[in-house]
Amino acid sequence: MKAFPNSEVWFVTGSQHLYGEETLQQVAEHSVIIADALNLSSQISIKVTFKPVVKTTEEIYNLCQQANQNPNCIGIITWMHTFSPAKMWINGLKILQKPLLHLHTQFNSAIPWDTIDMDFMNLNQSAHGDREFGFMVSRMKMNRKVVAGHWETSEVHRQIDIWVRAAMAWQDWQGAKFARFGDNMRNVAVTEGDKVEAELKLGFAVNTFAVGDLVQYINAVTDAEVIDLMAEYEKEYILDTALQVNGARRNSLKDAAKIELGMRRFLKEGGFKGFSNTFEDLHGMKQLPGIATQRLMAEGYGYAGEGDWKTAALVRAMKTMGTGLSGGSAFMEDYTYHYEGDGGMVLGAHMLEVDPVLAADQPRCEIHPLGIGGKEDPVRLVFTGKPGPAINASLVDMGNRFRLVVNAVEGVEVPHKLPKLPVARVMWKPLPDMNTGCAGWIYAGGAHHTCYSQSLSAEHLSDFASIAGLENIIIDQSSTLHQIKNEIRWNELYYQFFK
Ligand code: MN
Repeated sequence: MKAFPNSEVWFVTGSQHLYGEETLQQVAEHSVIIADALNLSSQISIKVTFKPVVKTTEEIYNLCQQANQNPNCIGIITWMHTFSPAKMWINGLKILQKPLLHLHTQFNSAIPWDTIDMDFMNLNQSAHGDREFGFMVSRMKMNRKVVAGHWETSEVHRQIDIWVRAAMAWQDWQGAKFARFGDNMRNVAVTEGDKVEAELKLGFAVNTFAVGDLVQYINAVTDAEVIDLMAEYEKEYILDTALQVNGARRNSLKDAAKIELGMRRFLKEGGFKGFSNTFEDLHGMKQLPGIATQRLMAEGYGYAGEGDWKTAALVRAMKTMGTGLSGGSAFMEDYTYHYEGDGGMVLGAHMLEVDPVLAADQPRCEIHPLGIGGKEDPVRLVFTGKPGPAINASLVDMGNRFRLVVNAVEGVEVPHKLPKLPVARVMWKPLPDMNTGCAGWIYAGGAHHTCYSQSLSAEHLSDFASIAGLENIIIDQSSTLHQIKNEIRWNELYYQFFK
């Protein structure tokens, strides 16, 4: 079973009429074999559909038009088995709106030394056919992914899947709706941004909804629904004594369950893929949603706090990219540092809203006071994250473009129990090292809000940025501050001219 069972990518082979019917027949047979192999690969999380070999300007144009219009087609993979003069591709590529992957491969892995003749050479000429095609895509300044290597190798399949996942997230953003309850947290800069530009460039809409309208949904929740949900809490989490049946704070758990049910219904009815809210605007709600938001994130909704719709959308995209992979992608905030010992590390958390997809063990369901917001004590899930390689990603609005900042990090075991800390927490070491990672992030203008992912790598985000036309700064093992600063400076110039 594919992770994305309702979608497909099209495998498109380019050729021309010059070689005669027999050669074209062989081209088609070989293309079917490659498309089938990719389709059957356990490494590729989507169906790969063979499309008849294209040989003329008209066929290419029609193919691109069909790809644009087919809602299940999330991208096309192109390959030139023979030469395919690339002026034939101009009209098609000009209208292509779906992501493009150029697979630079060859049917034969080895040269048949004893039998090779000019017929073989004419059939197996991807080495120059793909260069001709590549020139045109570069000439047209189109973003695409180039995967080079023999089609049977696992490395080629791995790279194709990374692009597939990025293309799925892109498809998911197109026409997506995000709800914003209340506005931005007052005076905060990095969570602001141009929502019109986001819809224009990135395809998703962000609109505001009155908290009072959400409260109506919460108030309409029935007691029976609340009882069922509390039973689920009891089964899935370790409940504080005070929250158990006959516990002193049982009513707070009821209120929390009611908030969750109301929010879920609101989001479902409106067809939303994510949301944001702010503790400064909770009129009519008894608690800041803690467990509600945590569980909605774990279900796949994008979320970020304090009106941060950009991070909410990014969390949703990264959750989509990670479908079926182990680990999770979660809203996160760089909270506090530990400079002692082995190079230093970051403790990440949020006031309440840390996604339980990161939990190493069964979460505890607890209630504690919250110093801000002026509401009743909120119920939240408390847990500790897993160690292992991860990334932090942040989407910021630079005024004339959106920038995606990515830092590869190493998640570490939280070394102490933290008995007084009433929130879920994760710890990591930024790469290439604590101070370079942090300074690079600050130079790049990365936010304190991120999406922390243990299922994705910087490669997924790089492919996604390319498809989405986002500026992408990656800080990883190989980064130096000198290079990061130069990249930022040079990008500044690039985006003055090209965006
Ligand atoms: Mn925050």
